Amino acid sequence: VTDPSDPACLAPLPVLGREVSVPLVTGGEVTYAALDYAASAPALQRVWDDVAAYAPYYGSVHRGAGYLSQLSTDLFENARETVASFLGCRAGDQVVFTRSTTDSLNLLAAALPAGCEVFVFETEHHASLLPWRDARVTYLDAPRTPADAVTTLERALADRDPYGPALVCVTGASNVTGELWPVRELAAAAHAHGARIVLDAAQLAPHHPVSVAELDVDWIAFSGHKLYAPFGSGVLAGRADWLREAEPYLAGGGASRKVSRRADGGVDVEWHDSAARHEAGSPNVIGVYAIASACKALTEAGFDDLVARERYLIGLVRAGLAQVPEVRVLSLFGDDAPRVGVISFVVDGWNSSHFAAALSAEYGIGVRDGLFCAHPLVRTLLGTDPQDPGECGAPEAAPGERSLNAIRVSFGAGTPDEHVERFVRAVK
Ligand code: PMP
Repeated sequence: VTDPSDPACLAPLPVLGREVSVPLVTGGEVTYAALDYAASAPALQRVWDDVAAYAPYYGSVHRGAGYLSQLSTDLFENARETVASFLGCRAGDQVVFTRSTTDSLNLLAAALPAGCEVFVFETEHHASLLPWRDARVTYLDAPRTPADAVTTLERALADRDPYGPALVCVTGASNVTGELWPVRELAAAAHAHGARIVLDAAQLAPHHPVSVAELDVDWIAFSGHKLYAPFGSGVLAGRADWLREAEPYLAGGGASRKVSRRADGGVDVEWHDSAARHEAGSPNVIGVYAIASACKALTEAGFDDLVARERYLIGLVRAGLAQVPEVRVLSLFGDDAPRVGVISFVVDGWNSSHFAAALSAEYGIGVRDGLFCAHPLVRTLLGTDPQDPGECGAPEAAPGERSLNAIRVSFGAGTPDEHVERFVRAVK
């Protein structure tokens, strides 16, 4: 690991230069400080270069006889190998290209076997919490330690029919607290009780090496736009059996191998058994190429310097926030829990939305405010009513009252010290 206080330690992972000047209400302009990587990270320079180099050559995949179609088909199929190797998949695992993590988890929800039970912590991002609405879902209470998460899951699984299908869905790194969840232990608990597990790696994969085989998870989902690629492509990877046996997620061309009229006037369809079964329609070739390019860049650079640099930036933010007595950092597992570069906090007496708006208008800093698509978790952390059906961007807290929403700052490759220092100065 090279010196993490030197941004040059991430020289192999330059992001597309974002020297965007933004106006300040106080007059003048400043370089935009993008501190909302947890929503969408900037793309790597290499990803844009790869996409630009490929752009003149792209064609439709799978069906074209022409040279460019064949080239695109090869690149598209090779991208599966690249992503499988980035994720440490097992032999026989399928890599399905989707639009996003949300899409991946909805695909898996549509592929659950009949009678499947689902177990999910109430602390999940809505993309992990909500897709299972057609299954029998058990919502688990927020744990206060990683060990507590494992025992809570074990207790819930102990009561179920061990011969029926079941799925556990868990997030590897929280999009609210940045805290890492004990994925390996949760996978072991799931498997010990005959259940399977899917890992929502939307926040984990951009910050941390992941290995499906080592973690022993059955599926993994992530989004390109949080992993230094542009929008529009995501991945669901893992065990082939449930995916192969399920009805196609989308019905249409590409998913079907053979379609014929029946004597009775109807139509018979044979669907593909491969990942194509769930990828009907013309796929997002450029998006898939970009995601594979980002995976390659991260694999080649390795995560050691990225993790060390993020830890250094986390230290700067935490130390700065600790000097402001009105600031309360949100945490489920405690201050010392290992985390990625995602930190949420509230400021006593401040409405978080006004606070975030001031960071933008007066300092050119882009953060996020609200309940971060994890309403039950943020309400639990704020000590407000977790059953409150109030909306994102909750109403104003009067000075001295408890905030009803929070502010989130997040960063990664390409974040200069200056952005974080400006943020700390602004909060102070
Ligand atoms: N899971 C987690 C933990 C996330 O942070 C997000 C995005 N905020 C999602 C899932 C959903 O990702 P996407 O919007 O790309 O579908």
